[in-house]
Amino acid sequence: MSKILHRSIHADLQVAAGGLGVELFDADGKTYIDACGGAAVSCLGHSHPDVLAALHAQLDKLAYAHTGFFTSEIAERLADRLISDSSNGIDYVYLVSGGSEAMEAALKMARQYFVEKGESQRRHIIARRQSYHGNTLGVLAAGGNEWRRAQFKPLLVETHHIAPCYAYRDRLAGENEYQYGERVANELEAKMLELGPDEVIAFVAETVVGATAGAVPAVEGYFKRIREICDRYGVLLILDEVMCGMGRTGTLHAYKQEGIVPDLVAIAKGLGGGYQPVGAVLIGRHVYDAFATGSGFFQHGHTYMGHPLAAAAALAVQDVIREHGLLDNVVRMGNLLDRRLQERFHQHHHIGDIRGRGLFRAIELVADRGDKSPFDPARKLYAAVKREAMARGLMVYPMGGTIDGVRGDHVLLAPPFIVSAGQIDTIVERLGDAVDAAIAGSVADHDSLSQVAVG
Ligand code: PLP
Repeated sequence: MSKILHRSIHADLQVAAGGLGVELFDADGKTYIDACGGAAVSCLGHSHPDVLAALHAQLDKLAYAHTGFFTSEIAERLADRLISDSSNGIDYVYLVSGGSEAMEAALKMARQYFVEKGESQRRHIIARRQSYHGNTLGVLAAGGNEWRRAQFKPLLVETHHIAPCYAYRDRLAGENEYQYGERVANELEAKMLELGPDEVIAFVAETVVGATAGAVPAVEGYFKRIREICDRYGVLLILDEVMCGMGRTGTLHAYKQEGIVPDLVAIAKGLGGGYQPVGAVLIGRHVYDAFATGSGFFQHGHTYMGHPLAAAAALAVQDVIREHGLLDNVVRMGNLLDRRLQERFHQHHHIGDIRGRGLFRAIELVADRGDKSPFDPARKLYAAVKREAMARGLMVYPMGGTIDGVRGDHVLLAPPFIVSAGQIDTIVERLGDAVDAAIAGSVADHDSLSQVAVG
């Protein structure tokens, strides 16, 4: 019996024994194509030799030095690199150990920014429903993932939520995509006016929504309007690119496809590709300057921030992506993945939407394509898809509660940037079989259950 409190105590977990390229293998020797990078983490796949070499070299040089005493050459090099790859105006980096830490730091930075500027009355964070920004209490409060928040509500600070930009579900008949985007973006202004705009700190959003709703990009014009509203009221725009950033959608930063520059950006998963726990906040110059000309420090910190091994892994991952031109592969293979998903599921009675960007794609499962009605949440169809996929040697990231935290199922795909055309074909083939088997099995289970209940 395991002594670990696993994510699910009753889950029957295989032991991961190793990995190579796009595959992981378990202790029994079974191989799995990692078509979701775990949770959109393993952007270079597994055991990349350049990253392993960089980690060995760093370990031989310096494993750890507390950042209250020293900086390190490798952390400085990573920061230089991240800034040279960022937009004009984003000039500094805060290095942490993961996505929740990055988002927590971004929220606190935003608050302290206004304290430094003498606007300490600003206290409200506005985010979106059906979003996720991490599991620690501050960012759990900001997030709009209802099932993750529910039991912790008494501990969560007050935050405010507006609608997501989720055209498949929420665009009205007679509204084009642009009009829809303007309408939901304008909810931000309405919320600011309700709260008092000079009391709002920041608006927080995933540039492309990840696991909560399944690779949902905003419609054209949405983020431009959001940026305008934030600018009008002097509110900071914090983009959470923990999952969708660092090349996942085909550009290094997902926001580049929106034609805007945020004030703060959180990155994590693809930054270090799973080779080390690492995250970062990319910081607008104006935010940094407020600290520099004010108190001179950011009132925050973690023991492992700026860890040399984490920095070495992240820098090596980013070097490989650049040197091997992998963002081009993300675009090419992303387009191919979209085509194959369309071919396999376009006519499928139980697939309502196929969406995403780059190598960040999802299918949304529905009971009926015609009226978009979801499956009964009690079926936990998403869990059945995961089981059926694993049985076929395929890792995908299915999730329930797509629509409102309870109803809806989707399957998220986030294969490594090194994936080949042949592997894309295999992924879609196995996924198609897994989805069909899950639906067939689920219907059967459900029918037998309801028969028992009726009987
Ligand atoms: N933000 C987003 C968009 C995420 O997808 C996640 C994790 O899935 C997080 C934040 C939290 O990151 P971590 O699990 O590394 O703390």
